[in-house]
Amino acid sequence: MNPWYGKIAVLVVFLGIVVIRAPHGSRSGKIKIVDDRRGPLETGLLAVAWIVSILPLVWVASSLLSFADYPLHPLPYALGLVFLAAGLLLFHRSHADLGTNWSITLQVRENHRLVTSGIYARIRHPMYSALFLLAIAQALALPNWIAGPAYLFGFGLLYVLRVNAEERMMLDRFGAEYEDYRRRSGRLFPKRRAASRAS
Ligand code: SAH
Repeated sequence: MNPWYGKIAVLVVFLGIVVIRAPHGSRSGKIKIVDDRRGPLETGLLAVAWIVSILPLVWVASSLLSFADYPLHPLPYALGLVFLAAGLLLFHRSHADLGTNWSITLQVRENHRLVTSGIYARIRHPMYSALFLLAIAQALALPNWIAGPAYLFGFGLLYVLRVNAEERMMLDRFGAEYEDYRRRSGRLFPKRRAASRAS
């Protein structure tokens, strides 16, 4: 397959993230931050996330990474498109449900509300699930050994090193309410509802 198909997928992922996030980002950006837990680790992780999201664009726009190219095949590409569509849908849904409570880093805003409805009813980190779907989409549809899996590794690192700190922050803020929410929801995958009564 022509590598341009891969380039189009990269651009759709990038533009999709920017277009979906922009209005929510500017809305929540206006609300005062009352707790900011961005330490040196989180700052470093944000830098890594930024670099790994730029690498695919470097692959699109230049031949710097072409030594690691391989031929694009229809099956992984088609699978990549499925992950891409699911990822963008979930990314949109989670931003819409989280509303102005969104931050790019570990922050609590003024009048921060614990969102436990919509997609958040059964998954605690649907935005991270969406970014994993988009990272897998890129690994499948971008035929380059470096730029293809870069976001998957970079975001995977960010997720593993951030998620506990985020949950600790939410526990400090919302206490028993968050503890209860944590019990009834899954982290990245929906938690199955417990049967209300044995039949
Ligand atoms: N981890 C979530 C949100 C990512 S944005 C997800 O993957 O969907 C990160 C910010 O969202 C955190 O700094 C926190 O302030 C906020 N946040 C995370 N979960 C939340 C929830 N259930 N309700 C309200 N805000 C939440």
